Amino acid sequence: MNAPLPTHLIPGLRPLPAAALQALRQHFGDRCSTAASVREQHGRGESVYDAQPPEAVVFCESNDDVVFVVKLANEHAVPVIPFGVGSSLEGHLLAVQGGVSVDLSRMTKILSVNAEDLTVTVQAGVTREQLNREIKDTGLFFPIDPGANASLGGMAASGTNAVRYGTMRENVLGLTVVTAAGEVVQTGTRAKKSSAGYDLTRLFVGSEGTLGVMTEVTLKLFPLPEAVSAAVCHFPSIDAAVQTTIQIIQMGVPIARCELLDANAIRAVNAHSKLALREAPMLLMEFHGSEASVKEQAETVQELAREQGGEDFQWAATPEERSRLWAARHQSYFAALQTRPGCRCQSSDTCVPISRLAESINQSVEEAEASGIPYWIVGHVGDGNFHLSYLMDPDDAAEVEAVERLNVQMVQRALRLGGTCTGEHGIGLHKMGYLAEEAGPGAVEMMRGIKRALDPKNIMNPGKVFAM
Ligand SMILES: Cc1cc2nc3c(=O)[nH]c(=O)nc-3n(C[C@H](O)[C@H](O)[C@H](O)COP(=O)(O)OP(=O)(O)OC[C@H]3O[C@@H](n4cnc5c(N)ncnc54)[C@H](O)[C@@H]3O)c2cc1C
Repeated sequence: MNAPLPTHLIPGLRPLPAAALQALRQHFGDRCSTAASVREQHGRGESVYDAQPPEAVVFCESNDDVVFVVKLANEHAVPVIPFGVGSSLEGHLLAVQGGVSVDLSRMTKILSVNAEDLTVTVQAGVTREQLNREIKDTGLFFPIDPGANASLGGMAASGTNAVRYGTMRENVLGLTVVTAAGEVVQTGTRAKKSSAGYDLTRLFVGSEGTLGVMTEVTLKLFPLPEAVSAAVCHFPSIDAAVQTTIQIIQMGVPIARCELLDANAIRAVNAHSKLALREAPMLLMEFHGSEASVKEQAETVQELAREQGGEDFQWAATPEERSRLWAARHQSYFAALQTRPGCRCQSSDTCVPISRLAESINQSVEEAEASGIPYWIVGHVGDGNFHLSYLMDPDDAAEVEAVERLNVQMVQRALRLGGTCTGEHGIGLHKMGYLAEEAGPGAVEMMRGIKRALDPKNIMNPGKVFAM
């Protein structure tokens, strides 16, 4: 048994008529699946909830495929749930009203690289790692890294970021979108900025599949820095690591990445990735720039760390060492899951103004420690963002309830401190209750108005973000 879906979030199913399923089979052939294992895999993601499988999964290879399935779904008022690689954490992919999962993972073409303009246009199923591998020879790269090898469509649909380079919202220039009516619409241009009309690109970025299916994404690229260096530094407490981060940001050091791992996360990655990192709170940092600026940034940061008791400043000198450290960070989720066999992970993120970060994390740590439930923390702390994950026994109702209570406390604290209930993971199903609290009823009603205008039959990933 996994965490049960809160009953108030389970709306009625909207069955797929036999004729519509037949039409999908005819169009997609063996790229249309109703196998239980495929449907299960597409109806859960990495969320804590039981799977709610869609009735069918179609594997799209072109815009025309997406248009076909969305037009059909619109005709029959059946839900459409876009699917990237299924790494989302907040229940985004559960087919709570049934319908068709539209898997974009086979749309993996890099459509055009415009190296002189520092832009690239890709199909939505291209993953972050694939993109960086394929454009390596241009001397450019795409810096946003959600921690999983997610699809760029899925990343655009949520809010991933990197401290120096901004969020997906700043880095997506344009989109090709298949609307709920099955029309193909282009938003944005390849120009760096535009003040022409409403900003539809940014409306779709972060919309979690509830407004349309993004099939192509135009992104900003960045020159590979002349020098890159990564370092780890251990601290006597999480507070000391966070205070160092706050000072780095407040002093305007242009650090590229700044990740916190607590001792629990390190213990798990040491066991999983055969590392011997000291099991104490640690910052994993990366500096980009010219040789001189990287040296200067590193010196400033070392000084700030030392003032907070930071020790063991260790440099990853070679690209291989750097990759090994980042791979360990990326595997922390799966490493931690292995430490409590049979557990399910509830991973929640909040983001606060940087000056309130210490308060936000420290109190959450105190509550997590007092609960006695295994947990770990990682965080893109340079943004004021952290992720607290509990490893809970899904068959222990009291533990499941306690974890949810701790999550409510953490989110409400973030809101009190002027922050948001999610800096990156998105609302999905799990955080629906907090959106109204954060945005206020007027703003949520405005969002509902936009949803009604773009998706009058409520077929696009229904039952997510807010109730209709
Ligand atoms: C180990 C691990 C670490 C993670 N760390 C982070 C992190 O640090 N920061 C972070 O932000 N996230 C993190 N995540 C969550 C996840 O990786 C991101 O949310 C990611 O952006 C989702 O991409 P995906 O391709 O897996 O999308 P999916 O999970 O398949 O879909 C996510 C949402 O986007 C919608 N969607 C997907 N593709 C499209 C499309 N083409 N058009 C319209 N809607 C679409 C879906 O309907 C769904 O609502 C982590 C996940 C894991 C497993």
